[in-house]
Amino acid sequence: MKKDGFENKSIDIIIPVGLDEEPDLQKSIGSIIELHRKAGFRKFALFGPSKGWRGVGYPPKECFEEIADRILEFKKGLRDTDILVGWWNTLTLKSGKYGSHRIVRIDGSESYFSNCPLAPAFQKRFSADVAFIAEKAAPYMIVFEDDYGINCHRGYGCFCELHLKEFARRTGKHYSREELREKLMDGTDEAVALRLKWGELSRDSLMELAAHVRKAVDRVTPWMPMGSMQPGCADADGDSTRAVAEALAGKNHRPFVRLHGTSYSNDDVSSAPQNIFHALYGRQHLPEKFILYHESDTYPHNRFFMSAGKMKTLMASAYSYAFDGSTFQVRQHLDDPNEDPGYYEMFARECRRLNALRDAAKKCTVSGCGLISSPMGFSRNENWENGWVRAFAHFGIPYTTLESRVNVLSGKLPNALDDETIRRLLRKGLLLDGEAAKLLCDRGFAPEIGAEVTEAPEKTYSKIAADICGKERIRDAFIHGNTGRLMDGCFTFSPYGNGSFQQLKPLSSKTEAVTELLDFRDHPFGIGMTRFENSLGGRVVLLAQGVKNNLSSSLFNYRRQRLIQELVVWLGAEEIVYVKECARVFCILNRPTEKFDHEFYGVVTLIDLSPDPLESVELRIPADWCGKCKIELLDIDGKWKKASFEFGEGSVKILHPMTICEPLYLAFRKK
Ligand SMILES: [Zn+2]
Repeated sequence: MKKDGFENKSIDIIIPVGLDEEPDLQKSIGSIIELHRKAGFRKFALFGPSKGWRGVGYPPKECFEEIADRILEFKKGLRDTDILVGWWNTLTLKSGKYGSHRIVRIDGSESYFSNCPLAPAFQKRFSADVAFIAEKAAPYMIVFEDDYGINCHRGYGCFCELHLKEFARRTGKHYSREELREKLMDGTDEAVALRLKWGELSRDSLMELAAHVRKAVDRVTPWMPMGSMQPGCADADGDSTRAVAEALAGKNHRPFVRLHGTSYSNDDVSSAPQNIFHALYGRQHLPEKFILYHESDTYPHNRFFMSAGKMKTLMASAYSYAFDGSTFQVRQHLDDPNEDPGYYEMFARECRRLNALRDAAKKCTVSGCGLISSPMGFSRNENWENGWVRAFAHFGIPYTTLESRVNVLSGKLPNALDDETIRRLLRKGLLLDGEAAKLLCDRGFAPEIGAEVTEAPEKTYSKIAADICGKERIRDAFIHGNTGRLMDGCFTFSPYGNGSFQQLKPLSSKTEAVTELLDFRDHPFGIGMTRFENSLGGRVVLLAQGVKNNLSSSLFNYRRQRLIQELVVWLGAEEIVYVKECARVFCILNRPTEKFDHEFYGVVTLIDLSPDPLESVELRIPADWCGKCKIELLDIDGKWKKASFEFGEGSVKILHPMTICEPLYLAFRKK
């Protein structure tokens, strides 16, 4: 088989390089060689045409001729090296007016520069331009910009005549845009069904254009790998990631996708787990054969915005998730593009370690509590993401997006799950926030969760919410390890949100109140958390608060951390590892797949998301690991070395200091 650039065994890093960053192309070539020499990068994605064309119109033929010539110049300049150059097509749908057919938003306005993927003239022209570059310049691969979406053109789209016509064909009923505007926006079941159908149409229209491109390229260079960059709207586009990547790959290639998962213009390290959660979901739900790249994007690519430390944190997570590689923005896209050495020097130091980490993670499954999410949230215009990500990450409790022994739901997510799935989850261990618990009650599952969950009547709510000095008290049976038993109340002052609040009413004495809510005079007025064993054999824990938009000290505190940690074990996660008595140490748990089960118990990634250094870190570990394993630490050279540690009762103390953004990678091996 012909080598196509994807056969490498190590982490596959692709560095974007602007085709016209440097007025002097030879300098640009020199800067690539410099990066190759300094950091070992071998693959570069030359990007163009310029996004400046958006305001002018779809680029003329000469622009693509120029791009092809430039790629050839790069190849010529690099011919004595083993460097590969691909083409990153940066103008897909947001590519400047072509003909008269634009993306039409639901309010009838036309996008100024985005072309509809169903427009026949655009399909023809776009495919021909891609095929032209493929044939003339023969980059090692072609990847498409993340403007390849339907719902990223400043509104819900595309409601052009062709999209409406195709929708009529599929549904057997012609809807006008005005009718759809009315129907799609309300919350009825009919609207949900229609949105799902509309999502399918959006996805299929993207797939259709991708298939056109594949066909045109197959005529001239069938060997050409082509892949996509997942746009932020991929879920709203009918969960389009898989379909688009498969259409671009065609029959003869492994699909490849860059999954989004970074933070633009933001260096908040404590948000890294949330930044990369969608990518973890993609990693765990796309077919095994897909080649997955993490969006290691430092936008706007200088350290006034993102530190190399935050990028290291994201990459440590991505390779703990066993990503195949990264599209890694290490350059400013200006002349002298390598001016800021921060990112590539970080990688040059870390790459052996990240490779060894990824190799270990490849033998594993990311494990922990199941933070169930659903891209189908779009059908109800709802957030798809599990609202517990931040709490679990900051409490040091590992999670996965796969259904597990213990699962966790929040907000409106139950709306995306059918009754059968809910019943299955109720037979295991289930942790619910107030909003999710209420939805389950509304669907008749109160007996299985052990409580009626209701919204507080307006008058009661106003009274409770006005009390910013209320408290929550842990009841006697649940104060293990706590010297104190109070937590801030659910309406304590929180500048970044308190989340929602629901009333929990236990159905019988079988439902245990874990905490009680107190007003400022210490009078109990409700229940904060419950636990319950149901008749299906499952266990359920409820939290009265909603976790979405909740950054309050009522949720984030040491006592809540201990409670949630102990309760997930009670729910059934006996096999879990978690970080004890530390704020904000992110913990990723990799458990070996069956094939590698004899080798080790697990690989644990620990990342201090707080600027405070730690002398050591104590982990709760499963009973069968205690005293029976040896622990190794991954060093900077990518070698597993004996770690210093002390076993405690059901725990182990790792005697290595930790500082922010300097992850520790531990392997628990069988003796
Ligand atoms: Zn359209």
